[in-house]
Order: sequence, then structure tokens, then C-alpha cells
Amino acid sequence: MATLVRTCPKCRKLMWVKDEQMTSLNDSTIRMTCPHCRQLVRLSLVTQGENAAGPKMGH
Ligand SMILES: [Zn+2]
Repeated sequence: MATLVRTCPKCRKLMWVKDEQMTSLNDSTIRMTCPHCRQLVRLSLVTQGENAAGPKMGH
């Protein structure tokens, strides 16, 4: 599976989602520990919707 980049919902930093670091909850949701804030976060793998364009960088 390709490496995914997602924005952490806790600290808003970009994190690289790697197979060995994530746990699949179901077909469209994974769980992993953010490397920045160390919080366990849930991420959706669904690429449709408002987040489909990719994560936005903060200023
Ligand atoms: Zn974080």
C-alpha cells in the first residue's frame, strides 16, 4: 500500500501514515499514534469529500 499523508486532527501537523504504524479499524478507518503529539488518532481513508484535495498547510 502506498504511503499516505494526513493531517493530525489533534495538532494539525502532517504525518506520514505507514503500514507498520497503523491499525485498521475497518475498510475506511485506521488508527495510529501521531509522531508529533503522541496522541492516538483515528483517520479516514476515504478520499471523497471536503478533504479530498489534500491536507492544508497552516501558517
Ligand atoms: Zn498530532
